[in-house]
Amino acid sequence: KKRLEQAIALRKSLFSTPFYRLCHAEGDLLPGVVIDRYDSHLTIQISTQATEQRKDSLLSCLDQLLHPTSILFANDIPIRSLEQLSLTQECLKDVPEEIALQENGLTFTVPLLDGQKTGWFYDQRRNRMLASRLAKGRSMLDAFCYAGGFGVHCAAYAKQITFLDSSKRALLYAERNFATNRKSREVQATFLLGDAFTELHRIYQSGKRFGLISIDPPALIKRRKDTPQGIAAYRKLNHLAIRLLEPDGILVSSSCSFHLEPETLTSAILRAAQKQKCVVQILAMGSQDIDHPKLLGMPETSYLKCCFARMLSKES
Ligand code: SAH
Repeated sequence: KKRLEQAIALRKSLFSTPFYRLCHAEGDLLPGVVIDRYDSHLTIQISTQATEQRKDSLLSCLDQLLHPTSILFANDIPIRSLEQLSLTQECLKDVPEEIALQENGLTFTVPLLDGQKTGWFYDQRRNRMLASRLAKGRSMLDAFCYAGGFGVHCAAYAKQITFLDSSKRALLYAERNFATNRKSREVQATFLLGDAFTELHRIYQSGKRFGLISIDPPALIKRRKDTPQGIAAYRKLNHLAIRLLEPDGILVSSSCSFHLEPETLTSAILRAAQKQKCVVQILAMGSQDIDHPKLLGMPETSYLKCCFARMLSKES
C-alpha cells in the first residue's frame, strides 16, 4: 500500500488530468504490476506468480486509495505463460467498451475491452508532443498509428497526415480521434489499412514523399533469442521509412524492444541514411515518459527508444 501511495503521489503531482500509467511495475517497486489509469477506470496487468498470489490485497489497497469504478485485468499477455499463469481478460464491475482520455490538451477515445495492451500507450506522451513541434507545414506519415497518437498531435501543425495501421479497428479510432481534435483547421488526412513494410514499399514506388515520418512498431524483438531477426526487421523498417523522406525530412523512429540497444537503433538509421547519401542530425533521443520511471541498477525497466533524426543531403 505504501508503494502504491508513493506511485500515486508522483502522478498526482505531475498531471492535472487523471490519465497516466499509475504503476510501472519494478520501476515503482511493485514487481509484476502494471496499472494504467483512465480517470476512475483502471487497467491492470499482472505478470508474475508472486503478484498474482497477492491480487486480493492489491485490489483492497486500490479500493482504499482510489475507489475505482471499474477494473479490467488485461492479463492476456503471453509472458504470463512463463509463470504458468492463465491468459485471460477479467472485468470487475462495469468496464466500458471504450474510454475518452486527455493527453497534452487533446482528447482520444480508445477501446478498453479487447483493446491492445492496456488500451493506450501513455509511454509516448512526451515524444508525441515533440513530434508535433517538428510537424509545422510538413506532410506526415504516422506508420503503426494505433488510435492516432502521433498523427493527431501533428495535425495541429502539419499540412497533411497519412495514418497507417494493419488493424482496421485501430484505424477507425484514429479516424475518430483525428475528427474530434481537428477543430476548424484545414488539414487533410488519409487512412491506410495494411502491413507497414508492404505499404512503405508501395508508397515509395508511387513517388509520394513525406516531411515527417513516425515509425512505432510493436516490439520486433520479444525475447533475447529473437535479437538477430529483430535487428534485421528494425534495419529494414528504418530503411523503408528513410527512403520516403523529402530532403530535410525528419524520422521519428521508436522501438519498445528492451533487447534493442539505443546504439543499434541509431546505427540502423545511420546505415539507411548513408544509402540515401544523407547526413543525420539527431534532434533528440526520447524515452518513455515520466510516469514510466526506470530503476537505476535495473536496466529492464528502461525499454522505449524514440530517436528524432533529421536527414540532411550531403549534396546541398
Ligand atoms: N504509435 C501508436 C502506438 C503503436 S502500437 C501510438 O502513438 O499510440 C503498434 C501498432 O502497430 C498497433 O496499432 C498494431 O495494430 C500495429 N501493427 C502491428 N503490426 C503491423 C504491421 N505489420 N503493419 C502495420 N501496423 C502494424
